Amino acid sequence: MVKLLPLVSLLLSAIPVLILARPYEKIHYHIATLNHHHKVNDDFGAIKSNSIATKLDEINADARISGADEEDEDELRLIQLSEDEPAEWMTVGEIMDLYRKKTKFMDITDHQDLGDFYKATTKTRQFPVQPQFQNEVKPFIKELTTKHMEENLKKFTSFRTRYYRSRTGKESSNWLYEQILGIIKKAENEVNVSVRKFEHSWAQNSLIARFEGADEQKENEVVIIAAHQDSVNMWMPSFGRAPGADDDGSGTVTILEAFRVLVENGFKPERPVEFHWYSAEEAGLLGSQAIAQEYAKEKKDVIAMLQNDMTGYVGKKPETFGIVTDYVNSDLTIFIKSLIEEYAAIPYTDTKCGYACSDHASWGKAGYPSAFAIESEFSNSNPYIHSTNDVLENLDFNHMLEFSKLSVSLAVELSHI
Ligand SMILES: [Zn+2]
Repeated sequence: MVKLLPLVSLLLSAIPVLILARPYEKIHYHIATLNHHHKVNDDFGAIKSNSIATKLDEINADARISGADEEDEDELRLIQLSEDEPAEWMTVGEIMDLYRKKTKFMDITDHQDLGDFYKATTKTRQFPVQPQFQNEVKPFIKELTTKHMEENLKKFTSFRTRYYRSRTGKESSNWLYEQILGIIKKAENEVNVSVRKFEHSWAQNSLIARFEGADEQKENEVVIIAAHQDSVNMWMPSFGRAPGADDDGSGTVTILEAFRVLVENGFKPERPVEFHWYSAEEAGLLGSQAIAQEYAKEKKDVIAMLQNDMTGYVGKKPETFGIVTDYVNSDLTIFIKSLIEEYAAIPYTDTKCGYACSDHASWGKAGYPSAFAIESEFSNSNPYIHSTNDVLENLDFNHMLEFSKLSVSLAVELSHI
């Protein structure tokens, strides 16, 4: 399914998976014994050498370039693979096997009691049946363009990897923070908006931008529009080239465009609206679990959370939104469908994507209404993700713009109801 570059295919045929599963320091040990003559390139596509040992040395040099943390091989993490089976303790190597099998999972080691803090059952909120704020939403939507999305995604995919433990993952996060801050500083309208870094125990921060609400009664409530920043190369998670254009660079710039238009055009919500860019989604929803747990502990009332994970690949026509119907809040999902019918230029198709499919699952587990919009039916989604081939050329920015419309409309509509 995944097209691999010739180099990676060569590596896979030549090196036992066990070696690949280890941190790069170990790989370096193996290759150092094989060949001392090497030539460094920073892009697999440009590698001209024909010796496997040389290629491995190049990869090791790449590892130093991306500056991945050393992973503790003996560390065990508590991994949940489904709702029905108990979580299992796994090694880093076993977790890396999950990446390769494209098995989605939740690493619950640090958040085993995520569901215990906030009991949503104490307050049941009705979502509206139909959109009501067309006069406010439509002028914002008119301002959305693909220009900034293209520029931003080009830069965002140029970081070698956005792996959550890597130095380049931290650099890409800092770059994204500066873009958000730049939008806020440039705004000429009076908008009450800010951005902060949410720090974790690993290198890459999550980012939270927040519009304050005008209604003090609703200060503790929040509407969340989200995407994840991190990328991963499933064969060499710590340091392999991972442009992550679609997964989830697309969602990142999709919601950034929605945010830009709201800031520049003076959005004044009644209740707070936040935009979240999570770290470490690929590592088992770590960033979103940490934030959901903090909000649940603080008893924040999250009205709704919408995840945008992969918004750029059209796949087989006809072009649609994929609206995920499993592990989501069904009333919120029905409302999201009504927003697509009202504001978007393309229809939606129901789809399922399974347990722990993306960060909406963390919020659902914490007891909050969450939903997930993806680029197409799940079976028709981008086959190149988690590889060196998840690049801009496979994406359609006009498709992504439809998701920006959804984010804008959800933010505006739910900020008032
Ligand atoms: Zn993703």
